[in-house]
Amino acid sequence: MIRIDGQLVSAGSGGVYNERMVKGYRVWDPYRSKLAALCMLDESVDLTTDMKVLYLGAANGTTVSHVADYVDCVYAVEFAPRPLRDLLTVAEKRKNIVPIAGDATRPDRYAPFLEVVDLLYQDVAQPDQAGILIKHLPFLKQGSGIDGGMTAILMLKTRSVDIRRTPEEVFAETIERLTDAGLSILNTCWLEPYHHDHAAIVCGVGE
Ligand code: SAM
Repeated sequence: MIRIDGQLVSAGSGGVYNERMVKGYRVWDPYRSKLAALCMLDESVDLTTDMKVLYLGAANGTTVSHVADYVDCVYAVEFAPRPLRDLLTVAEKRKNIVPIAGDATRPDRYAPFLEVVDLLYQDVAQPDQAGILIKHLPFLKQGSGIDGGMTAILMLKTRSVDIRRTPEEVFAETIERLTDAGLSILNTCWLEPYHHDHAAIVCGVGE
């Protein structure tokens, strides 16, 4: 990942959302993007030019656009019409973004548009976030990914899962579900001070 003066940046041409530029690079703000926050907190996270990424919860494509600056191709899934419109505009200018109007709880409906990917990135504020990730395991390349291990990143919004339970309880239950599904947990971190009650769970497939 590229850092300039302690700031995370990406190298795409042209701004997408009036982001700041530094020395010709696009500043990737950790307060606006959970993935940028994770990259600031965990320097082992890396995106490489040969990667294909499946991105669930693309929203208006701001984080997607930074990911696209680093990797080969991003399949970006979003179901809400308004952010989807913005995502389509972003994808018009960045040809390595494949926008998909789809519901992440029903991957069978958009499976024909996908190929097997190196990395799944999920940021959907839904009650069954672990279940959504598990449904996408067939799209992950076994044993590939960053450092030969990382194949999925779940941005867990604990309040969306169950507001009555503590973030720590929701987190522990999610970890258990992911490991029961055959994922190994490579790293976890809470995204403080950038995002509250959000945990990043970095997973590999298998041992
Ligand atoms: N990842 C985005 C970013 O960094 O710019 C922000 C994502 S926002 C927290 C969550 C997004 O997930 C929303 O745009 C929402 O519409 C989308 N979403 C929620 N449930 C979804 C589902 N079942 N299928 C597809 N998109 C979903």
